[in-house]
Amino acid sequence: MSEPIDSARKPAILILGAPGSGKGTQGAVLAQIPRFYHYSSGDVFRQLDTRTELGRKFVEYSKRGELVPDELTIQLWASHMKDLVTSHRYKPDIDILVLDGIPRNQDQAKMLEDHVEIHQVFHLSCPNRDELARRLRKRALKEQRLDDASEVVIQHRIKTYEDETKPILDYYGKEIRCDIDATQSPAKVLYDILAKLQTLEAYQRIANQTV
Ligand code: ADP
Repeated sequence: MSEPIDSARKPAILILGAPGSGKGTQGAVLAQIPRFYHYSSGDVFRQLDTRTELGRKFVEYSKRGELVPDELTIQLWASHMKDLVTSHRYKPDIDILVLDGIPRNQDQAKMLEDHVEIHQVFHLSCPNRDELARRLRKRALKEQRLDDASEVVIQHRIKTYEDETKPILDYYGKEIRCDIDATQSPAKVLYDILAKLQTLEAYQRIANQTV
């Protein structure tokens, strides 16, 4: 994997949830608040030029509803973060990184450990698979996403989440985990996230800085 971007571990929160649980919606809203930077691994993958080797790999894996191999995923993350720091769009000493869609398994979590310190995991919980699938089918109509268009792929993504991603909750442990009912309205989900955020020491430290 690439060299660390710098020696300090970046303060971060992680939004974890199944496809359709609303991670992207919440991440995008948080990104509007000063001192938060939203990194959506799915969005960064989708922005890749599909003529590149990595762009082709992404299409190959995502259209089957599978995860892109870890090394490639983390390398993309590291190089994207480096660009953001260099261009001052993300300031690692005063911004909280909102991780959405990464890490997605335990190996990725370990690979990120030297680079980020996750202060809180927001688990957007939606045990009802039918509701998740309904949301993804609705999204397929609005956004051109190959992986939302097929029922088989949707079910495979939900299963991949349950088998590979959900176990990360145990990896991070109960102390930093906050379960949020993802079947509530987007505004109420945001309300719950913000309520918990206020109590975080890492957030208070950053929010109280004068910049
Ligand atoms: P969703 O959570 O709705 O499934 P994302 O936009 O987060 O969608 O991801 C879309 C696809 O991008 C995934 O199915 C996977 O193929 C790829 N992907 C995104 N993040 C990762 C990751 N951390 N590791 C491996 N593959 C990823």
